[in-house]
Amino acid sequence: KSPKASSVSPVPQATDNGHQPQPIINLDHGDPTMYESYWKEVGQKYSVTIPVFQSLSYFANMKNLCWFLEPKLEEEIKTLHKNVGNAITENRHIIVGTGSSQLILAALYALSDSLNDRIRSALSQQLHTTRLVAKFQFLGALLQSYPEITDFLRSQLYKWSGDARCFDKDGPYIEMVTSPNNPDGVIRKPVVNRAQGMVVHDLAYYWPQYTAITSPADHDIMLFTVSKCTGHAGSRIGWALVRDENIAKKMVKFIEINTIGVSKEAQLRAANILEIISLSCQKQRPRDLDNFFEHSHQLMAERWKKLRNAVKNNQLFYVPKFPNHYCNFTNEFTGTYPGFAWIKCKEGVDCEKLFREHKILTRSGKRFGGDAEYVRISMLSRDEEFDLFVQRLSTIHGTGNQN
Ligand code: PMP
Repeated sequence: KSPKASSVSPVPQATDNGHQPQPIINLDHGDPTMYESYWKEVGQKYSVTIPVFQSLSYFANMKNLCWFLEPKLEEEIKTLHKNVGNAITENRHIIVGTGSSQLILAALYALSDSLNDRIRSALSQQLHTTRLVAKFQFLGALLQSYPEITDFLRSQLYKWSGDARCFDKDGPYIEMVTSPNNPDGVIRKPVVNRAQGMVVHDLAYYWPQYTAITSPADHDIMLFTVSKCTGHAGSRIGWALVRDENIAKKMVKFIEINTIGVSKEAQLRAANILEIISLSCQKQRPRDLDNFFEHSHQLMAERWKKLRNAVKNNQLFYVPKFPNHYCNFTNEFTGTYPGFAWIKCKEGVDCEKLFREHKILTRSGKRFGGDAEYVRISMLSRDEEFDLFVQRLSTIHGTGNQN
C-alpha cells in the first residue's frame, strides 16, 4: 500500500551500446492518477481557495457527534450518495478520517472496545481479545496490511486470524468485507455469518466507474474514500457511515486521540470536489463540465479492452472475465472494470518475477496470501504509463520462468 514517488522511472540512461533502456513501469501500488486528465480539463474554474483566516480552530461543528467534520463535507457526502444511489446515509453518523485507512483502525478499535465493554459488564472480568478475521484469501488491498496493522500496533483488542473462509474458532470476531474486492474486483459478502460477528464493509470501489450500482448499500459500518472515487488520494479524506451511535462515538474518540480530528483544508477541498462531481451528473450540468462517472467509466472500459487485446493471442497470461449487471445509476447493463487487474500466469511461472524481467513492477499474489502465479496490476496510473504498459505487455511472449 505504501506509495512510491514515480511510476515511470526518470530520464533513462543510455547503455554502452547507445540504446535507451526501457523505463521501469511501476504498477505495484494503486495510486489513482488516471483521473488527472479529467481534473486538468475541469481546471481553475472550479478550484477552491481557502483564505488564511479560515479553519484556525480544531473544531468544525460542536453540535455534531463528529465534531471535526466540516458541515459542507457532510452535506456533499450525503448529496453524492443520493445522486449515485450506492449507499444509504439516512439515520447514519458520518465520520471523516485521514483516508479510509484511519477509519479501518477506528472501526476495529470501536467494535472490539464496545464488545469488551459488554463482556466486562456481563462477566466483570478483564479484557478479552477479539479475533479479527478477514474474508477469503484475497481479502483486499489490505490483506497484506491487516496483519501488518495488528502486528505493528500490537493491539490487545484484536488480532489477525487470517482467511475468513477458514475461520473455525468460537467467540466474537470482526470480518472485513471489501467489495468490490481488491485485488480481484469481485463483489463480496460476509462469509462467516455468525451471531457473534461484526462486519466492516470497505466500499472504496463501489462507484459506477468500477462496477454496476445494483442497490444502495445498507450496512452497519461502511467505509468510503475520495482516493478511489475521485482520484484525490493525496487529500487523505475518507468517510464512514455508521448506524450505531455508541460505535460512532468510539470511532470519533479514536480519531480524536490519534490526530485530534482531520485537516479542515483537506475536508473543504474534498467537499468542493464531491460537489463538482455531483453537479457533473446532473442533466442541467454546466456545458463545460463532463459527467465525471460517465467519463471515468469509459476510461476504465477502454483500459480493460486494451489490456485484453494485449494478451489476446498469448498463452502466458489469463485475465479474469466479469459478468455484466444492471446499473441503477446509468440505467443500463454495464461491465465490471476493477481498479486492479488480477492476472494469472501459466502454471509454474512466477508472474511478478516475469514482469520484473520486463521492467514492470507488480504486486505478487504471495503478498495477498495467494500464490506466485498471480499478480495485481494497477489499472489506475496515468494514460502514458498505462499505454506504455499495454504496449510492452503485448511484446511479452515465450514460456516464462519456471518456479
Ligand atoms: N480500502 C481499499 C479497498 C483500498 O484499496 C484502499 C487504498 N489502497 C483503502 C481502503 C485506503 O484508502 P485511503 O487512501 O482512503 O486510505
